[in-house]
Amino acid sequence: MNQELIRNFCIIAHIDHGKSTLADRLLEFTGTVSKRELKEQMLDTLELERERGITIKLNAVRMNYEASDGKTYTMHLIDTPGHVDFTYEVSRSLSACEGALLVIDATQGIEAQTIANFFLALDAGLEIIPVINKIDLPSANVEWVKEQIADVLGLDPDDAILASAKEGIGIKEILEAIVKKVPPPSGDVNKPLKALIFDSFYDNYKGVIPFIRVYDGEIKPGMRIKLMSNNKEFEVVEVGTQSPNMIKLDSLKAGEVGWLAANIKNIEDTQVGDTITNAENPTKEPCPGFRPAKPMVFAGLYPIDSDRYEDLKEALEKLKLNDAALFFEPETSAALGFGFRCGFLGLLHMEVIKERLEREFGLELIATAPSVVYKVYLSDGTVIDVQNPAEMPPKEKIERIEEPYISASIITPAEYVGSIMQLCQDRRGIQTGFTYLDENRVELRYDMPLSEILFDFFDKLKSVSRGYASFDYELAGYKPSELVKLDILINGKPVDALSVIVHESKAYQRGRQLVDKLKEIIPRQLFEVAIQAAIGNKIIARSNVKALRKDVLAKCYGGDVTRKKKLLEKQKEGKKKMKMLGKVEVPQEAFLAVLKVE
Ligand code: GDP
Ligand code: MG
Repeated sequence: MNQELIRNFCIIAHIDHGKSTLADRLLEFTGTVSKRELKEQMLDTLELERERGITIKLNAVRMNYEASDGKTYTMHLIDTPGHVDFTYEVSRSLSACEGALLVIDATQGIEAQTIANFFLALDAGLEIIPVINKIDLPSANVEWVKEQIADVLGLDPDDAILASAKEGIGIKEILEAIVKKVPPPSGDVNKPLKALIFDSFYDNYKGVIPFIRVYDGEIKPGMRIKLMSNNKEFEVVEVGTQSPNMIKLDSLKAGEVGWLAANIKNIEDTQVGDTITNAENPTKEPCPGFRPAKPMVFAGLYPIDSDRYEDLKEALEKLKLNDAALFFEPETSAALGFGFRCGFLGLLHMEVIKERLEREFGLELIATAPSVVYKVYLSDGTVIDVQNPAEMPPKEKIERIEEPYISASIITPAEYVGSIMQLCQDRRGIQTGFTYLDENRVELRYDMPLSEILFDFFDKLKSVSRGYASFDYELAGYKPSELVKLDILINGKPVDALSVIVHESKAYQRGRQLVDKLKEIIPRQLFEVAIQAAIGNKIIARSNVKALRKDVLAKCYGGDVTRKKKLLEKQKEGKKKMKMLGKVEVPQEAFLAVLKVE
């Protein structure tokens, strides 16, 4: 295929600005799918994604477009996820493109993710085409959005295309702009194979199917390929593209985007960002910036019904096939029984996995509060990784503890700087930068403990900045911290699944808040329930859940049996998501209470 006739692009936008709807229109306009075939929002495949409006799995679709210059172009539309948990995957999929459509809602203007995505695209060196969408709405304010495009992004507002993805307005103009403005790929087909993996999924028959962008050379069936991060070799069985169905091709050449099958059994072998090359004639330089997917946040997942442990195990194994970043291993809790310690990229990733387990596999789960991995230096000279607060060794045995830090970048309109600095300071952040991007936009940089952003940081940031601050971070290694383990005792017994690790300076406050929160959450029982917070042997806070008045059932004593049954029936329903801790019924929320305090 002539590279001059290839265009690789993606669509980036703040959530709900119309990315998926625009993708549908492009597929329809180019005849890639007919109107009849077009299920709403083709590119969002998982049911969950569609409901939440987030795109987790990347996808690439080939379209053919006959442009007004009379030539037919092959376009690859690469879908990108839009959440900070997946920032690395976003940047990988961007680097598979030469151009990006930056969609902005004409009624909302530029928002947090518009900016974050814009900078990622800029970093990746992409040609950016602004699209002002939803101009069909009466409240659309095109002039205002154009000003923002000039002031905030520094782009020429005259280049913005006015569109309505819903009404099909501006679609041809967008395709023409892609042809004219997005440069064709510039790889060399005669060089050794060099291809980037930007996504992969597991197929029951073909094994792992990586999605690739070929930079140099050519890949075809029969070839021996090598993955450059781990030196594993495979023989290519098939290559092809999606349009939007899977189509087999004879080969994929420099500039093209598609998939390959090579009897790869393990999804961990094909990590996003890795480079594929020819095993017999390898490229010297891999694609830059590879980093293995590493879970950063850990939590325990336990079936409410302990008989369903095996089902949970099978479900996790199935999800793992399609998700190299998911980690799990068996774990036992004195309070919750048998379950799994699971590792995730971030909080959204964790929520999505939990919801899929419940929805697609019909499991009812208790999730414990998420935790980072602590490096614990023991007095005997050994170093251990602690992912589960319950497993923190006693204080006497610890020489020091280190926790993971992030280096964070927050971009915000200047008016919110004060409240954001306060928030970051409360989260033990150390300011490392303060830069005006333009007269109204500031970039703040902070070093912060990763654990501090696990506790509703995003929600807080959003609320103090009215949704305008954008946030991004990268990991910045481990630093020593004064940390202590806070235990929660219910009726005198420590509940392992409720233990948390907190900074010493916050331990008393957190302990107080936790017992108060638990007092609200734990329903009244037939006896009094004592809730205590402790550090080591020292109780630092206490609260009681008063006993129920005995007359609840006594009221219908001896009398109306059906009424009594109904009452019990009702109680049973309320019990659904409860776990018995000794004699005390504790609802699921209690295990996440630590996330809700403050
Ligand atoms: P995404 O989150 O960026 O993928 O946004 P969607 O494509 O899911 O769109 C979000 C909402 O905006 C949906 O309800 C769409 O129907 C609606 N929408 C998208 N484009 C337009 C448009 O041009 N005009 C109007 N009126 N609504 C639109
Ligand atoms: Mg979408």
